[in-house]
Amino acid sequence: MAVSDGEVAHHDVAIIGAGLSGLAAARALTAAGADVVVLEARDRVGGRTFSTTVGHDVLDLGGQWIGPTQDRVAALARELGVDTIPQFHGGKKLVERGGRIASYRGFLPKLPLVALAELGVRAAQIELLCRSVPLADPAKARRAAAWDKMSVEDWLRDAVHTAGAREMMTIATQMVFAAEPKDLSFLYFLFYARSGGGFMRLTEVDGGAQERRFVGGAQELSLRMAALLGARIRLDHAVTAIAQDERGVTVRGPRGKLRAKHAILAVPPALSARIDLGPARTPARAALERAMPMGSVIKCIATYARPFWRQAGLSGEAISTDGVVRATFDDSAPDVDRGGQAALVAFVIGDAAKHWSGNPVARRAAVIADLTRLFGPEAARPVTYVDRDWTQEEWSAGCYVGVMPPGVMTELGHALREPLGRLHFAGTETATKWAGYFDGALTAGERAAAEVAARLRG
Ligand SMILES: Cc1cc2nc3c(=O)[nH]c(=O)nc-3n(C[C@H](O)[C@H](O)[C@H](O)COP(=O)(O)OP(=O)(O)OC[C@H]3O[C@@H](n4cnc5c(N)ncnc54)[C@H](O)[C@@H]3O)c2cc1C
Repeated sequence: MAVSDGEVAHHDVAIIGAGLSGLAAARALTAAGADVVVLEARDRVGGRTFSTTVGHDVLDLGGQWIGPTQDRVAALARELGVDTIPQFHGGKKLVERGGRIASYRGFLPKLPLVALAELGVRAAQIELLCRSVPLADPAKARRAAAWDKMSVEDWLRDAVHTAGAREMMTIATQMVFAAEPKDLSFLYFLFYARSGGGFMRLTEVDGGAQERRFVGGAQELSLRMAALLGARIRLDHAVTAIAQDERGVTVRGPRGKLRAKHAILAVPPALSARIDLGPARTPARAALERAMPMGSVIKCIATYARPFWRQAGLSGEAISTDGVVRATFDDSAPDVDRGGQAALVAFVIGDAAKHWSGNPVARRAAVIADLTRLFGPEAARPVTYVDRDWTQEEWSAGCYVGVMPPGVMTELGHALREPLGRLHFAGTETATKWAGYFDGALTAGERAAAEVAARLRG
């Protein structure tokens, strides 16, 4: 790893993971004068962001959008000179339910009137409920015990009475978490919603988390941070063990070992589970790592000769209860009206992603069939089709995030960012604001860096 001339290299801080969180921690500590090394298992930086050429544009097969109140990531993008463009959302949206496709405008999809009214009421109720969850310690919410006992599916079954409203809230949950309502604690759901400023904000384009995307792709943020950090970053350096003694940590992997005074683990709990932490790993931490699986998502992009859906008055946004694809968005180039590339991005989510994982040929056919049903026959003839199955990524083990099933938040939530001796925890899962998003990854990295910087000073 970092063995030179038989000597073990010494650093102030070893950071494991060169996603947004680890890189943000590295920048903050470097700015504070610390000597850091960043060890990354993959042959690239950016982790759950991955931007690649699809057709003739660079598009995102990982995380993509930012929105209002994601101030940290917006400031970083400005600082690094990464521009954003608005997500296209002009025209009508589509909703497919029980074999019928309807178009609508605005936030609430076309549903029978009673279902529509209930959807509005329940959405408002969630906004109210989530305000009572303290972000730093959700287990302290007055109704934490009851909410953490139930899954989101339990809540939907008990509180939502019309099939239409229940189906729409199920899709919204699947899209926000890349997980099924049965696999999510209701307390965790409320925490996550509050951490992003409310559930509606998580689901929306205009004024919501899908409002803008990055020119050149979201991975550009990590690539530019990495360029500034230079040789401090070691790619292809998987970490398998972190041992601690009274003077520091020894970090090991197949490439060797190094020493540091402190370490920051900037990976999701499901991946830190694979690293041998020796006796420092408390039973609560071990239990949390086992109990917080990653969501499941396959992100699919189809490019086309022209944006035929726009020409039909559609925005490219669709949700479906019926198909393999749960939701779609327009992913065209800003100059699509002057010959730029037209594209749709589609999400296969939760149990469907698990089902279609490992079967790329049949999956492509199923996704294209869904796009064709939604947007018409031209969708059957993409110029390019690419997808990425995040459940098959060794160093992500699923996406978008590590999620909490019932019982985990109240029992084990405290172990999420509690340091273990000289080992501190970053990663978007540990954030209190915009947990699960780029913004949360950055603030979590900077929070862990501040913890370590204080100890280095001390
Ligand atoms: C399809 C998809 C869509 C998404 N959409 C959005 C979106 O629109 N907006 C948004 O804000 N967020 C979105 N997200 C979530 C967002 O990408 C993540 O919140 C964020 O990138 C997490 O950053 P991180 O640094 O915490 O973790 P990661 O990016 O996972 O970084 C962890 C790093 O650690 C490395 N690693 C793991 N184990 C080891 C080890 N043992 N040794 C060394 N290195 C290791 C990994 O390779 C990885 O590079 C999406 C994610 C996906 C996959």
